[in-house]
Amino acid sequence: MKDKDCIFCKIAGGEIPSKTIYEDEEFRVILDLGPAAKGHALILPKDHFANLYELPDETASRVMLLAKRMAAQITDKLQCDGFNLVQNNGEVAGQTVFHFHMHLIPRYKDDGQKIAWQPGKPSQEELEEIRNQIVGN
Ligand code: 5GP
Ligand code: ZN
Repeated sequence: MKDKDCIFCKIAGGEIPSKTIYEDEEFRVILDLGPAAKGHALILPKDHFANLYELPDETASRVMLLAKRMAAQITDKLQCDGFNLVQNNGEVAGQTVFHFHMHLIPRYKDDGQKIAWQPGKPSQEELEEIRNQIVGN
């Protein structure tokens, strides 16, 4: 299913042109217009799912297989030194386009980019409390 107001539905469906590096019945992989590094690409399902929570299990598993394949191809062709997979859900997490996408980000020595957070310092008790909240016992 598509969302008629969604730019990534239009790109994934070919209605808006993009630099496509892979396409099949279910997915299109495009170069990001605002890349973090050379070769930064996005995996887009052709159907509209707003985020990870909406993604069907079968699609989620195929996204990861495709990410693995694309990472290998990009690494081989662009000779990057490392690789980040990034996937944002919700505005607070940095999502700006509300159609599920996986970022494929090649990394190069001295590329000056950071995908980082400030590490916290929770006590063992705090970690135990969080564990209990998540697993419910
Ligand atoms: P988010 O912040 O939602 O995880 O990532 C959205 C990404 O989509 C950004 O990296 C941004 O550069 C990219 N982007 C936004 N609009 C377009 C577009 O029209 N074409 C392409 N190729 N990338 C886009
Ligand atoms: Zn969409």
